[in-house]
Amino acid sequence: MSDFDDLYRDIILDHNRRPRNRGRLPTANRVATGDNPTCGDNCTVHLRVEGDRIADISFEGSSCAIAQASASIMTTRLKGKTAAEAKAAFADFKEVVTTGNVPEDEPEKAAFAGVHAFPARIKCATLGWHTALEALNQPDKPPA
Ligand code: ZN
Repeated sequence: MSDFDDLYRDIILDHNRRPRNRGRLPTANRVATGDNPTCGDNCTVHLRVEGDRIADISFEGSSCAIAQASASIMTTRLKGKTAAEAKAAFADFKEVVTTGNVPEDEPEKAAFAGVHAFPARIKCATLGWHTALEALNQPDKPPA
């Protein structure tokens, strides 16, 4: 198992050090901010929604390694997805972090399975996802 544990830790460290899609999104038409006071995490997700599809996505904020890595992976998962697909993807991810069930062939999700043993950390791992779905539910805002 230790090779797997190393792999999972590397995935989280990599996304924490080099977060994908981090920063503002000038073309965004939806935005939401979420926070996790027990850890001190906060996260803002910017979406460019075209029709029913997430055409582009970014996040920013300051958070612990788990929250940042999870938000980074979330952006790579949700880009190009429809609202229904995004909700299904979050349900799958939430299942992993709350049950600890390790999905086969899904190392990016499996990396977070260990979080289930630490209930306070589940909020860290799901903050970015919650915030993205909240942004999806926002009305379109006029371009800045
Ligand atoms: Zn945290």
